[in-house]
Amino acid sequence: MERIGFIGVGIMGKPMALNLLKAGYAVTVHDLNRRPVDELAQQGADSAGSAGAVAEQSDVVITMLPDSPEVEAVVFGPDGVLEGIRGGMLFIDMSTIAPATSEKISKVLSEKDVDALDAPVSGGDVGAKAGTLSIMVGGTKAAFERALPLFQVMGKNIVHIGDAGAGQVTKACNQIIVGMTIQAVAEAMTLAKKAGVDIEKVRDALLGGFAQSRILDLHGKRILEGNFQPGFKIKLHRKDMNIALQTGRTFSVPLPGTAQVASQMDAIIAQGNGDLDHSALALFLQELSNVGKE
Ligand code: NAD
Repeated sequence: MERIGFIGVGIMGKPMALNLLKAGYAVTVHDLNRRPVDELAQQGADSAGSAGAVAEQSDVVITMLPDSPEVEAVVFGPDGVLEGIRGGMLFIDMSTIAPATSEKISKVLSEKDVDALDAPVSGGDVGAKAGTLSIMVGGTKAAFERALPLFQVMGKNIVHIGDAGAGQVTKACNQIIVGMTIQAVAEAMTLAKKAGVDIEKVRDALLGGFAQSRILDLHGKRILEGNFQPGFKIKLHRKDMNIALQTGRTFSVPLPGTAQVASQMDAIIAQGNGDLDHSALALFLQELSNVGKE
């Protein structure tokens, strides 16, 4: 079995690394935060003091970090992955980052005879714990096939989309649809509430019709209950909308709906609520329409 290195064991990375351990893989972990590293060590993981040291002890290195700058720092920075890799290794970044960064990493690592995959996920911490993530993958077919047994431990719907960066483009598309659908659900529920209609019944009625969606179901329930504990933090979704907008600029594709939702996310973050769940988009609309205050 391949020896796995896992860098970034936060909300998502920790349960993903744990599933690899449970499947019998030897896993070496590293994170700036000591606590999840210690918790994984109690479950049988090895730990290493730097990303470079993880790479030295591994055949496959996986990263699950917040954003492009962190992934670049871990790969190219001092004591980074690049300092510990050997030809024939495989690098898999499962964070949500800019497609251009994934392409750059793939290019630099290929010069060292190391394959790289971008493999962002969807499914949240629930999917990470259950091993049911959707995984969208960019990179060569050979690298994808090598990684598939690992992906099958962490996920269920695993699709090889295309070359380096294609996984991240797919994830950006996912985040556009999720962000704008939350906005649609939030607008509809704010209107229903202001019009004095029972929003619980509105949601029940719509869940049986053409407007049905998982977002109406799950985020609609959060909006209904006013429960904005994360889930997926609005500041992380704002980061993903930025990736989508940047990619739109690269390819000259206007994304007006994405830009508008991103700007509403900015307003919520400016109010100090960036750590709330992304369904808190509804709060902004409720405030504008004076819902709940009359
Ligand atoms: P998180 O903040 O919980 O975890 C990130 C971890 O990376 C932290 O433990 C942090 O200490 C560590 N880290 C940061 N910089 C580091 C460095 N230089 N070296 C070593 N460790 C470092 O975030 P998360 O929710 O686990 O998200 C990780 C990625 O997955 C993000 O790109 C996010 O957009 C994506 N994602 C998250 C979810 C979700 O529901 N949380 C769902 C799908 C995708």
